[in-house]
Amino acid sequence: MLRRRLRYSLVPLVLIAALALLVLRSRLGIGSPSAELLRAWFRTPEIRPTLISRLAEPCPNAPFLLPSEGFVGFLYADPTAPYTPFAPHTGIDIFGDGAPGTVPVHAAYDGYLTRLPEWRSTVIIRHPSDPLQPERQIWTYYTHMASENGVQSYIVDDFPPGTSEKFVKRGTLLGYQGLYSGAPYRIGLHVHFSIVLSAPDGSFRNETHIGNTLDPSPYLGFNVDARRQPTLPVRCGS
Ligand SMILES: [Zn+2]
Repeated sequence: MLRRRLRYSLVPLVLIAALALLVLRSRLGIGSPSAELLRAWFRTPEIRPTLISRLAEPCPNAPFLLPSEGFVGFLYADPTAPYTPFAPHTGIDIFGDGAPGTVPVHAAYDGYLTRLPEWRSTVIIRHPSDPLQPERQIWTYYTHMASENGVQSYIVDDFPPGTSEKFVKRGTLLGYQGLYSGAPYRIGLHVHFSIVLSAPDGSFRNETHIGNTLDPSPYLGFNVDARRQPTLPVRCGS
């Protein structure tokens, strides 16, 4: 009897706790603003055309080109799995509609491209002068351009492993979106794009820490910060 009463008295407590958690999530911006649409992207491919952002030119008053065509579906600072509120997503994921190795990835801005000898799916471009803060140097980082097992790279032949400081113009074809993540889980075809700060010695900082990266929103001309109620799909000025 006592146990049953205890059980019933716990019900409202659990409900209140669940409600508080929901309110807290929305207040703190915890949770993914794009999770539902991203699920729909994979479950219902027919809706993909309505979610795709396609930009041949940068947005007005923005310096960077959106480097690939697709659904900008996992945003900057998203704290949800496989990321956490303590180690959130450091860039944006653009999900292309096509087979692996067919959706082009372009340089977001003029700079000097490097591909380390061990990089299968990744290139990084050095921009000596940040177009929004000209006194500093920044980098743009592009990854997942390889087949799922990593054997076939989808980076174009112009940039073989070991490429160092090769000048590229904004819009230069870098490679194609792939499934390779280097992680045990599968995310789906996309390219990960991030803006990385320079270390004092001029090298790029560790891209996996959000403190070493910048919110790409002002560079792209639309809000891609998961903490600031983004509008999806993104459009210039959204
Ligand atoms: Zn990513």
